[in-house]
Amino acid sequence: EADELKKIVSLPAVTNDGYEIHLAANISSTRELEIAEQNGAEGVGLFRTEFMYMDRSYPPSEAEQLTVYRDVAEHFKDRSVIIRTLDIGGDKPMEYLDLPEEDNPFLGYRAIRICLDRRDLFKTQLRAILRASAFGEVSVMFPMISSVEEVRAAKGILDEAKQELRSEALPFDEELPIGIMVEVPAAAMIADRLAEEVDFFSIGTNDLVQYTLAVDRMNEQIAHMYDPFHPAVLRLVRHTIEAAKKCNIIVGVCGEMAGDPRAVPLWIALGVNKLSMSSRSIPRVKAAIRRASQENSRSVTDKIYKAGSKAELDALLEPQS
Ligand code: PEP
Ligand code: MG
Repeated sequence: EADELKKIVSLPAVTNDGYEIHLAANISSTRELEIAEQNGAEGVGLFRTEFMYMDRSYPPSEAEQLTVYRDVAEHFKDRSVIIRTLDIGGDKPMEYLDLPEEDNPFLGYRAIRICLDRRDLFKTQLRAILRASAFGEVSVMFPMISSVEEVRAAKGILDEAKQELRSEALPFDEELPIGIMVEVPAAAMIADRLAEEVDFFSIGTNDLVQYTLAVDRMNEQIAHMYDPFHPAVLRLVRHTIEAAKKCNIIVGVCGEMAGDPRAVPLWIALGVNKLSMSSRSIPRVKAAIRRASQENSRSVTDKIYKAGSKAELDALLEPQS
């Protein structure tokens, strides 16, 4: 099995009839770069930056962030590195932000909602990301987007950061791709509008499942209800991917579902360009892609969308696991 794994790491994630999906790593620190490399990650599809902000009494400076982002960008050099801006919320306290206690932190003051208020904090991070883009293939991604206005506001602050860097003669990639997480049902529903604003989507199934099904992703008691293959989730996912295709923008998936080999036929049939997951899941997902064909994936996906019951769906997903 170990040999098998070693062999697959150097192979592309391509179906036997030529459909290729880029497989990237989800990371939260530079310590994970090695393991991403070992598992054959073709870049970073999600760099969760919030951990850099936690367990300390003041936020990381622009210079401190630049060092970290630059390390990641240089490590992957010619491969894409997507840096997600701060996704913090009431459930993850940060003393220096002085966030109020909330009854429903997951429905509360979180991620882009905080960043659009705390422009100082946000702009420092955007400047660091922009400056890192001079050293590799860096993209920026905004989390928890639920409206067009939020995207425009975030892009406005990004433009200000660019203007500052230009006037300070600090280099950055003028073409830096801009993306959003599609992880709130509202965003999935208006994906056609959002697609006109950005260069790429990344579907965050962890939150999308939680918000669509009204099931707390951390609550053990209702864990059995947390179902990424629920028809409502599948419809939102398809709607999002179709909107991206129509607008000719890149679409990826970066929630846990991306690392589930059973979902592979869906991504092939719907035309997903990229999957980003925990590094250890990459070889297994790649093996599933290499075993698959477009024709078979379309037929399985057709049946998945037509399944009339949970039992029927489970039977369809079984053979892939
Ligand atoms: C998601 O919500 O699917 C996601 C990838 O982001 P996080 O797990 O960090 O909320
Ligand atoms: Mg999320």
